[in-house]
Amino acid sequence: MDVCFRCNKRATLECECSVLVCPEHVSLHLEEGKGHRISLLEPFVMSDLQKNSSKNLLSQIKVLDQCAKTIIKTSKKIIQETAKLAGESLKKLQEKRIDLLNDLKMTNKRITDEEISKLHAISNEVLTIEDPSLAPVQEQLQKYFQAHFYRKQAKTSVFRFQPSQKRLNSTIWIIFRRS
Ligand SMILES: [Zn+2]
Ligand SMILES: [Zn+2]
Repeated sequence: MDVCFRCNKRATLECECSVLVCPEHVSLHLEEGKGHRISLLEPFVMSDLQKNSSKNLLSQIKVLDQCAKTIIKTSKKIIQETAKLAGESLKKLQEKRIDLLNDLKMTNKRITDEEISKLHAISNEVLTIEDPSLAPVQEQLQKYFQAHFYRKQAKTSVFRFQPSQKRLNSTIWIIFRRS
């Protein structure tokens, strides 16, 4: 609604200086100086094109909002999945660590023949660090998030484009499963 410059009521008059006024405040505006000419303000009527465009734009905005929700949901899911898999990896390390601590006890006391052969076996073993590459996961993540989450197409059928979540999950899984 076009409103009066003074009172925020509906303006029905327009000045040449482009100020909009209601009948009540028109004289107040004219008192501001010379050169102001008042005429009736033609009411604004939305054309069909404007109506349709407004509807269409609002629905496009809605699609973007839904895409944003999807992105947030996905990133939360990835964080949860990562935490879960990291937890499982750490648990496995902890179990191995406990085994080694138990074996360490054999080095500090009189031991049985069985324990002697166990120590022989252990002294032939070393652990080396394996650092699995994160690159494939990063690549998949980048691919996923850089993808357009919507697709522009001619009206009639509109659907959202969702990058494959399944493939992303399997990549994250592969990295943690290796140990
Ligand atoms: Zn007014
Ligand atoms: Zn004016």
